[in-house]
Parts: sequence; C-alpha cells; structure tokens
Amino acid sequence: MNETEPKIRLYIDAPLREGAEIGLDRGQSNYLVNVMRLEAGAVIAVFNGRDGEWRAELTDAHRKAATLTARDQMRRQEPLPDLHLVFAPIKKARTDFIVEKACELGCARVRPVITRYTQSERLNLDRLRAHMIEAAEQCGGMSVPELDTAQPFGTLLAGWSGERTLIFCDEARTAAPMSDAVATLPRGTPAAILIGPEGGFSPEEAERLHGHPATLPVSLGPRILRADTAAVAALALAQSVLGDWGT
Ligand code: SAM
Repeated sequence: MNETEPKIRLYIDAPLREGAEIGLDRGQSNYLVNVMRLEAGAVIAVFNGRDGEWRAELTDAHRKAATLTARDQMRRQEPLPDLHLVFAPIKKARTDFIVEKACELGCARVRPVITRYTQSERLNLDRLRAHMIEAAEQCGGMSVPELDTAQPFGTLLAGWSGERTLIFCDEARTAAPMSDAVATLPRGTPAAILIGPEGGFSPEEAERLHGHPATLPVSLGPRILRADTAAVAALALAQSVLGDWGT
C-alpha cells in the first residue's frame, strides 16, 4: 500500500475504523471510477467529521456502487473553533460563496436568519451542504459545518444564550473596529458573527441588537461591504483572534 498522502479526499457519512467497509453512493462512485479513473487498489483519504482522516483503499471499483476499505488513520479528529456564522441569505451564488468560505475558514455552524429586509428566503439546504462538503474536501478540513434551517430574526434573538457572544457587524459603523472588539474576548470564547442582508438591518432590529446583553457591535471599517465580503472579512478577523489560526 502506498503510504504517501493521497491526493483525493472524500467526505463520507459512515463510521471509520480499521477494516471498515464503506459503500459509496452513485455520485461518489462515479467521481472516483469514471471521472478520476481510479482502479481497485487506489488509495484515497476519507473523513466523516467524527473519526479523523483515514487512508482508504478502493476495494471494489464498481462504476455505480464502489466500495472503500479503511486502512489506517492519518490524522486524529480535531474540534473546530466554537465560532458560528449567522447570516441573512442573499442571492443564490453569493449565498453559495458565503457557506463555502464559512467552511474553509473553520466555522463550526452556519445559521441562516430571516431579517426584515431579507429578500432571498428560499434556501436549498442540500445544495448548500454539498458546497460545504466540497469545500471541506478541497481545503483539508476534517469537518463540515452544521447547517441550520433558516430562523426568523425574532426567534433567533429571543432564544439566544447569553453564553455565546453575538458579534453584530453593524453597517452604521459607529461601533469599535472589530479587531479591537474581539481582542477583549479570551481565545476560545463561544461566539457567532451576525451579518445582515443587502438592505442591512432595520432600525428596530438594530435597536434590539444593541439592547441585547450578549451582543458585541463591531465595525468592519469605513466602507460598506457587500454581505458576502463582510462575512469573509469578519470570519477571518474572528478566527485570527479567537480561533485556531495560531496553531
Ligand atoms: N444597505 C446597507 C447600508 O447601506 O447601510 C448595507 C448592508 S451591507 C451590504 C450587508 C451587511 O454587511 C450589513 O448588514 C453588515 O452586517 C455587514 N457590513 C457591511 N459593511 C460593514 C461595515 N463597514 N461594518 C460592519 N458591518 C458591515
């Protein structure tokens, strides 16, 4: 068996331990056997978000229902930083971009929220999850963020636990710069970043956010960023201070 690091990585939804046989679905079988042209004996890397990353051998190269056998663990499972992204869905391609980047940037949970000015309320969660799986496969991640169904803003805020800091990206830009604000939080603080839709937050929503005890209002600088840019900028800033970028 080739002990070098496999180039192909696949997320699979099955337990991983030495000798475990993993039946692949039609899409994954097609990808490995028809697209990548792997033959029996080829070795790839697999992960499931629970058991770390494993070398797995293609033991049956069936074009529609291939089988892998897990051989040995390459990396142990590491938990993701306790950082969530709460965002108001925007246009389809930009929402795809947001969830993909949330995964690459090591976000643990993605939570769509429907605010007053949200225009794109219909979300295809399967499609968004497929984007995140692809992102995790290509970036070397070992987990795919949890993806919630969309919640109304009021419900989200009413149920918000005081133990998770809600980093409110406020386009009014009167709050402290985000880098200064998050520097006051200890590394590892449970946190969530909140990004509004194209139309921003309504005055009532902004008022409720400012009045909530778990909220930390922040500014992302003097320019108004598009929601997708704001999400990436805020995730990067938060991860560099609170998350695992220092490791
Ligand atoms: N239409 C709004 C306006 O003109 O005020 C802008 C909304 S902006 C396109 C979308 C979201 O990105 C905002 O709700 C906010 O969460 C975030 N955002 C954009 N620029 C920001 C900034 N400079 N500081 C803080 N948050 C920002």
